Amino acid sequence: MSRYLWISGALACLATGAGFLLAEKSPVPAGEAPRVVAAAPKAPVEPRVRTVWPTPYPYFTDGADPLRWLQAPESGKVASVGYGMIRNGGARMHEGVDIRPVAPRDKKGEPTDVVMAAMGGRIAYANPAPNGAYGRYVVLEHRIAGVTLYTLYAHLASIDATTVAGRAIAAGGRLGVMGRSDGSGGFPKERAHLHFEVGLRLSSNFARWYADRRYPDPNLHGNYNGYNLTGLNPVDFFNFIRQSGGEPTEKAVEAWVRNNDIAVLVDAPVSGTPDILTRNPGLVVGAGPAKAAGWRIGFTADGVPVRWEPLPATPAALKIVSVDNTLATEARRYGLVVPKKRGVYEPASKLRTALELAAGL
Ligand SMILES: [Zn+2]
Repeated sequence: MSRYLWISGALACLATGAGFLLAEKSPVPAGEAPRVVAAAPKAPVEPRVRTVWPTPYPYFTDGADPLRWLQAPESGKVASVGYGMIRNGGARMHEGVDIRPVAPRDKKGEPTDVVMAAMGGRIAYANPAPNGAYGRYVVLEHRIAGVTLYTLYAHLASIDATTVAGRAIAAGGRLGVMGRSDGSGGFPKERAHLHFEVGLRLSSNFARWYADRRYPDPNLHGNYNGYNLTGLNPVDFFNFIRQSGGEPTEKAVEAWVRNNDIAVLVDAPVSGTPDILTRNPGLVVGAGPAKAAGWRIGFTADGVPVRWEPLPATPAALKIVSVDNTLATEARRYGLVVPKKRGVYEPASKLRTALELAAGL
């Protein structure tokens, strides 16, 4: 083998991330084994997350502004289709994004866009009856390094017969067809869209928690009721994926979840391993004790508990440690904190609910 070929071979091995052995192959004297001159350290192959845009739209390659793929709402104000406290003048949370149809419509003017799994995982829930705000919807769960993300696909016209809870699904796997279903006969054709969410499920005991509260409406969706699903910002998520060339490492996805901006930091008197951390051990940070006596929890402004630091002593009560100045208004609107006096906040209902669900507070 020429020196050039030997080098390019080694580079090819490095490029594929495979560990390899450099052996001096020629000339080998008769009767002698090849002499190993050096062993390169084995580079572990980092598992990657293949990600697919959930509709037939070339988002990851076309470089388009998000406003081009978001559906305009009734008011016509495009800003109110994004994620966050943007509905009804900032009073109502929108936990996902509304993706508009791009495929040709059928004879009746209905969208024909196929809706696909954004990442590989497991079909967690399929609701074929338009009996709530999400209409017909599907929830997938994705175990990625130390986190379990959910993705949600709502307002579907139809759900495929193969979209059955418990089944595995690959990235790009077909789930159903885009539509306009909701809990009250559907919204107008012109506004048909896919409502897409990505985030963290708070509890695995939601049905019991809900039954204890004696709400007037029955819980029709088990653990996959929207109250139990806290959405992160999907525009940020897709931008992160695009910046990672469409296939980030699992560890990078885990870090993206944990590194969302923290609006509210609280100390909670909950010990042991909270429910949410059984599915998301990758959210634990800091050099605290192995067995937590309490937790310091970082919430995004929209109520997603993305960072958990174990405490050596149990706090006497639920306590707000800090509120980020720039995110305080959004956190107040969402209902995480209420101002007591200037710069001093108390926990509000959404924060308590999230902690009851996520940590059994
Ligand atoms: Zn929506």
